[in-house]
Amino acid sequence: MKARIIDSADVLKIVDLLRAQGREVVAPLRGRGNDTYFDTVTDENRNDVQLHFANPSYPPKRFVLPHIEPLMKFHRSDGRIDIEPIYEHPLRAIFGIRSCDVAGIWHLDRFYLNREFRDIYYEKRRKDVFLVNIVCTDPEQDIGENCFCVCADTGPAAREHFDLQLMDLGAGEFMAVAGTPAGETLFCDPIFRKGTPAHIQRRREILGGVRKRFKTTTSWFPATVRYVSQDKILDATWEEIGKRCMECGGCTYVCPACTCFTVSDRQSGPNEAERVRIWDSCALAGFTRMAGGFNPRRAVHDRRNRRFFRKLAHYFIQRELTMACVGCGRCLSVCHGDIGMPSVVEMLRRATAEKASPPAVSALPSVAEVDKNEPVKH
Ligand code: SF4
Ligand code: SF4
Repeated sequence: MKARIIDSADVLKIVDLLRAQGREVVAPLRGRGNDTYFDTVTDENRNDVQLHFANPSYPPKRFVLPHIEPLMKFHRSDGRIDIEPIYEHPLRAIFGIRSCDVAGIWHLDRFYLNREFRDIYYEKRRKDVFLVNIVCTDPEQDIGENCFCVCADTGPAAREHFDLQLMDLGAGEFMAVAGTPAGETLFCDPIFRKGTPAHIQRRREILGGVRKRFKTTTSWFPATVRYVSQDKILDATWEEIGKRCMECGGCTYVCPACTCFTVSDRQSGPNEAERVRIWDSCALAGFTRMAGGFNPRRAVHDRRNRRFFRKLAHYFIQRELTMACVGCGRCLSVCHGDIGMPSVVEMLRRATAEKASPPAVSALPSVAEVDKNEPVKH
């Protein structure tokens, strides 16, 4: 990977270069209070693009997988029905995407593109989306209370799956790293210059310091993945988690790595209807309800355990190469029941480990009792 140095004052010129390529550039903008959100950069708001900011509550996932996505239109005329597929193939860049959300998009890529059936709608929409990752380096502004990318191994600096990565080195300089040939072509512009070994050293020092500033950790991921995969979690633990869930669906709607959708037809004109794909949530009863009304996952805890099986079980990790959690912490921020990923990982680990602990010495049978009950072995 090639790296270059760019002055902080020139960083937004990268947005200009991408717009000059004909791309729609979406970038983090500041809303009311401390809110940030991704939106299209225009001449009017270009200078409001944020480089250090709290990660927006909604990831930029919707720019590759919209909440509601028209798939095809049906027209009725003269007793005939014509069907017309609707494809969108935008030339777009997501500027300022965080490392966790880069990993989220990579997860979507593996789900929608890497299997036996490639999803043609996702493929066309994703094909020309250029990702400019910004590394979280400012603990006060960039790292939220609930971020834990360090535990999910997705950040603070993404190692791959971006086109260009920017990292603030302080002293008025950023380091730019090209992740793809398309990213590297930008280095022809005179705003970029070659770096020195001192810049590399500075990057290492900053990342080393930033990693220590995360407040939320889940060092229990490996144990929990093992317990979930071996079906060792007690029903009582799932029930406890289910009792806390209010079935709002918030955790799935903010998750950059959730992939589920439903398909629905709706009227769009007097003789016209459209088929749309809509984000769905395993928290909602309708997710598993069948046409006749039977629901194999009627109890809330049966639906909640599904979410954590899907994200943590070895079967899925083997198929998709990583867990379906990228450590963004959003589900922890939105959940009224405090059953975001880090809390659940800790609950599952603790309850299962306690169950598996050896009994107290006083509870063990005496050697004589054991001998008495054991068959004689020759
Ligand atoms: S955010 Fe919390 S309460 Fe809402 S569906 Fe998810 S787990 Fe349940
Ligand atoms: S499960 Fe929670 S922490 Fe993990 S990626 Fe999804 S929203 Fe973020």
